[in-house]
Amino acid sequence: PHALVWFRDDLRLDDQPALQAAIAQGYAPVPVYVHAPEEEGDWTPGAASDAWRRRSLAALDASLRARGSRLVCVRGPTQAALERLARDTQAEAVFWTRRYEPAIEQRDTALKWTLRQSGLFAQSHNGALLIEPWDVATKAGDPYKVFTPFWKAAAAVMRTPRTFDAPARLPPVTIDGESIDALLPSPTPTWDRPFWTHWTPGEDGARAALQAFVSKVADYPEARDLPAIDGTSSLSPHLHFGEVSIQRVYATIAQCDAPKEARIAYLRQLFWREFAHHLLHHFPRTTDHNLDPRFDAFEWAPIDDAQLNAWKSGRTGIPIVDAGMRQLWQTGWMHNRVRMLVASLLTKHMRTHWIEGARWFWDTLVDADLANNTLGWQWVAGTGADAAPYFRIFNPLLQARRFDPDGAYVRRWVPELGTKDYPVPIVDLAVAREAALAAYSRRGG
Ligand code: FAD
Repeated sequence: PHALVWFRDDLRLDDQPALQAAIAQGYAPVPVYVHAPEEEGDWTPGAASDAWRRRSLAALDASLRARGSRLVCVRGPTQAALERLARDTQAEAVFWTRRYEPAIEQRDTALKWTLRQSGLFAQSHNGALLIEPWDVATKAGDPYKVFTPFWKAAAAVMRTPRTFDAPARLPPVTIDGESIDALLPSPTPTWDRPFWTHWTPGEDGARAALQAFVSKVADYPEARDLPAIDGTSSLSPHLHFGEVSIQRVYATIAQCDAPKEARIAYLRQLFWREFAHHLLHHFPRTTDHNLDPRFDAFEWAPIDDAQLNAWKSGRTGIPIVDAGMRQLWQTGWMHNRVRMLVASLLTKHMRTHWIEGARWFWDTLVDADLANNTLGWQWVAGTGADAAPYFRIFNPLLQARRFDPDGAYVRRWVPELGTKDYPVPIVDLAVAREAALAAYSRRGG
C-alpha cells in the first residue's frame, strides 16, 4: 500500500520520523509538498523564506530522485490537495512532521480529523524539537515563562536522541505535480543572488555547516558574541526548514571532542529554540501581542516612516546598527548580538513597537521562524518571557566597542563610514534613552 509523506518544514531524508514511520508501517512512501501560504494566518512566509524554500525543495527533489523517487508539488488548499493526491495514488495513509505555528496547529488538528473521517490513516510525528511543548510544565502545571527552569526540566525529560539514516532506495512515483518554479517563482529582479555566496539551502548544505562547526565548538563561548568572526554554527535557516534534524545536531555536538563547557554553551542555545516553541504553543497570541500585559498601556511612539526606513535600510547613523541591517539585507541573516542591538535601538531609542521590527525580520531573514522571532523581539523589547527589563537599554556605541573592538564588522558592512556620505545619527542616544525611561515609568503596573 501507498502512503503520502507530506513534507513541510522538514525538508530532509536523514533522520526523518514521518518518512521512517511510513516505511516501518509497510507503506510505499509518496513524497508530496502542498503550497498553501494563505493557510499560514497573518504570517505568510516572507520573501527571504520563499527564496530559501524554493532551493530547499529543489534539493529535496534531487535527493529523492537519486533514490528512485521524487517530490510531487501541488497547490493548496491543503485538505483538497491531500485528498486528491491520496485518491490518485491509492494511498491509504498520510504521515507528517508537526509544526507549532498557531494557524498551522489549528489547521492540522482539523485536517487530521477530516482525513480520518474520509477513511485515511493520518499520523503526525515530532521531527522538529528535542521535546514537545507539552512535555514539561511547572509544579503548578503551567507553561514555563523563565528560561533556566525550563531548560532544567526539558533536559531532564529529554530522551537520548535516536537518529535514523536516510533510506538508500525509495519506490518510484507515478503521478505528476507542478514544477517548483511554477509554485514559487524566482524573484525578479534576482535580489536574492548575493545570498547564495553565503548559503547552500538543502540537506547537503546543512550537513556541511554542521561538520564545519564541529571544529569551532571549543571557541564558541567567546567567539559567539563577536560579529566580525564566523564563530556561530549558521545552522538557523537549516534548522528552520528542517534540513537537518535537531537530534542530529544535538548528538553531533554532544559527542564532539570540544571541552564540556563549550559543548554545553552551544547546546544551551538549542534549548532557547525549544523554549521559544514551548512559548509559541502555549501563548499563541504573542506573535502579535505582548506576553507581559503590563506593556499594553505602554506609549509607543507614532510610526515615523522616515526613521523606520532609515532603520530598515541601515542608514541610522549608528554604525553597528547599520552594519547589522545591511548584513541582513545582503545575506538574509544577522549575527545574534547585532540582532539584539538593532532591536534595542528600534524599540527603545526609537520607541517603535516591536511588531514593526518583527515584521521586517520576518520578510528579510532566511531563518525567519515564528517561535524564535517572537521570542527574540519580545525579549529585547522587555515585553516577553524572561525578558531583559525595559530599563536596561543597550548603548550601541559601547556595545560596538566591546564586541567589535577593532571595527572590522562595521567596516565590512559600512564601507563609507567616516566619509560625508555616511548619515548623521537619526536619534540622540542620550536624549532618546531618557525619553524611553520616562515612557516606561508612566506605564505603571
Ligand atoms: P548559533 O549560536 O550557532 O545557535 C545554534 C542554534 O540555536 C540556532 O541556529 C538557533 O536555532 C538556536 N538559537 C540560538 N540562539 C537562539 C535564541 N536567542 N532564540 C532561539 N533560538 C536560538 N532565530 C531564528 O532562528 N529565527 C528568527 O527569526 C530569529 N529572530 C530573532 C530576532 C531577534 C530580535 C533576536 C534577538 C534573535 C532572533 N533569533 C532568531 C535568534 C538568534 O539570533 C539566531 O537563532 C542566531 O543568530 C542564528 O545563528 P546561528 O545558527 O549561527 O546560531
